[in-house]
Amino acid sequence: MNNIPEILSKQRAFFKSQKTKDVSYRLSLLKTLKQEIVSNEQAIYSALKKDFRKPEFETFISEYGLVISELNLAIKNLKKWTKPKRVKSSMLTFPSRDYIYKEPYGNILIIAPWNYPFLLAIEPLIMAIAAGNTAILKPSELTKHTSQLITDIIQKTCPETVAISIEGGVETATELLAQKWDYIFFTGSVSVGKIVAQAAAKYMTPVTLELGGKSPCIIDETVDLKLVARRISWGKFLNAGQTCIAADYIIIKSNIKEPFIEALKTEIIKRYGVNPKESPDFPRIINKKNVLRLADMLEDSQVIFGGHIDVETCYIAPTLVDNPNLDSKIMSDEIFGPILPILTYDTEQNLEHIIWNYDKPLALYVFSNNDAFIKQTIKKYSFGGGVINDLLIHFGNHRLPFGGVGASGLGAYHGKTGFDTFSHNKGISKRGNWTDPGVRYAPYKGKLALLKKMFKYFS
Ligand code: NAD
Repeated sequence: MNNIPEILSKQRAFFKSQKTKDVSYRLSLLKTLKQEIVSNEQAIYSALKKDFRKPEFETFISEYGLVISELNLAIKNLKKWTKPKRVKSSMLTFPSRDYIYKEPYGNILIIAPWNYPFLLAIEPLIMAIAAGNTAILKPSELTKHTSQLITDIIQKTCPETVAISIEGGVETATELLAQKWDYIFFTGSVSVGKIVAQAAAKYMTPVTLELGGKSPCIIDETVDLKLVARRISWGKFLNAGQTCIAADYIIIKSNIKEPFIEALKTEIIKRYGVNPKESPDFPRIINKKNVLRLADMLEDSQVIFGGHIDVETCYIAPTLVDNPNLDSKIMSDEIFGPILPILTYDTEQNLEHIIWNYDKPLALYVFSNNDAFIKQTIKKYSFGGGVINDLLIHFGNHRLPFGGVGASGLGAYHGKTGFDTFSHNKGISKRGNWTDPGVRYAPYKGKLALLKKMFKYFS
């Protein structure tokens, strides 16, 4: 059993030793971590396959490859990112040299989910270390093979005083959350996000909350339906739909609904065959509890394609549901599985009625060739981030901050944004001594006009 308070106290002492402030030390940690991950590439594929039959191809594109890119990016740019950034002086600081220093927060807690169990645990860890923090990571208890491998990799590459993976479920997470942290980075459900936010509030700890929600996908009548169906068959059923930014439901212009459904059925069969259970490319649901949760959602739904469920093997076929009510089970919560409800709209008011029925989603997708409609849609609705004419791909560009808004999350990461997330911006003004303008000193009589002139000059 890990003694959490003792490990954290050692990490606190190590952080105070200033060793993690040394950029070359951080670089050496990141390089060793990369080496260890590269040498475990096959082991990572095999762990994810054992956990939920995730195909090697999907693990590469959505976990391993992204982690390696993030490591390469941090290793290449760390010296630049950590340099104090000079900013212009202001009237009040002049004469001065003003800088923003990137300061590590200190001791970080990272809690990860199961759906991209390698990526969502290691990616925040990379940027926490790059920014000069120590970290305790709790990977998901539902992906035992991957979490065990993560623990091993971290153990081999980082001293316990810098980073450690502590495996466990709710009890462990609760004990971790009871400690005092300098930053908490949580990825998971909205309901647990609230627990994390409450625990953080006790010590005024800053948090990033990467949560979920019901992400809509709007399709208007100007599109090439075959292309749209092809892209949706990829983005919705990747990872068996267990993706925080998967399209949760479709809202399509009513006059093209039928041909779209036919096109989507054809594409799903092309991807996974007539019996997706046999396909080596279609993962399983993470556990029986989630299969039963999804099965329950289908109870009051009109299934028009798929719908096969095998609880024993955690299998749910790619499934299409026709026109559910907004108060049906499937439209009440985030689906997080291979089930896609298809709703329709005719007017802007129909769209508003559906989208504003829910909290601000993590993603929104719009398929259209009508620029005015696209612009209006992405400006009008509030959501974490999104894509025009495809699904998910915004996640794969480290130059785009990734995070939710409102109930779908707080804060963002990916690439440099991740480094910034784990760094406090410390503003420092170094006053010059070569002059000491007397205008600010009392008595003020007769000085206001000069002050106003200076104010104008500097603003
Ligand atoms: P979850 O909230 O059940 O679990 C996430 C983590 O929290 C796990 O490590 C778990 O052990 C821990 N946890 C669970 N109950 C807890 C409690 N009571 N107190 C403290 N910690 C607790 O989420 P999940 O089922 O692993 O993942 C699915 C959810 O995560 C979905 O809602 C999905 O949208 C969301 N998600 C969001 C992102 C994102 O980047 N925004 C990415 C992946 C998943």
